[in-house]
Amino acid sequence: MKQFALQLGFDFDEFWAFLTPVEKVLDYLDSSKKLSPDVIKIIKNLGFEPKSYLKSLKSFPMQDCAYLKNQLILNSEGFVQLCCATFSPILSIGFFLELSPQQIQEKRNNSEMCKACLKNRIHMYYGSKWGENDLTPIKPN
Ligand code: SF4
Repeated sequence: MKQFALQLGFDFDEFWAFLTPVEKVLDYLDSSKKLSPDVIKIIKNLGFEPKSYLKSLKSFPMQDCAYLKNQLILNSEGFVQLCCATFSPILSIGFFLELSPQQIQEKRNNSEMCKACLKNRIHMYYGSKWGENDLTPIKPN
């Protein structure tokens, strides 16, 4: 697959499968929330159990969120999402054509979802370059 992608002129990165979106990870961390059996099954099949992985990330220095700083994501209807790791339309911050770049960034910087994500280091869970010995503090399941 990698060879095929490179032949076509695409980049090819390998990552361990991880739980998305951010809102689902937050639900998983919140013991009062009940996840569906399908989601539990997916989590059991991940190489890294999300809670253990996030806990182990606390031994690393806090990092900025690259998605928050460098990314602009629009959904198919033209609404700005917080980032590519959030899917819920409720988390749209507004219609792209009605917001200035400054307004977009201000809304993202003040987002409660981003605050919760940063507090739990979920942004580092997505930003980890697993397999490249960058942030691999625990062994796969
Ligand atoms: S802090 Fe989390 S939710 Fe916010 S942009 Fe970064 S990864 Fe996305």
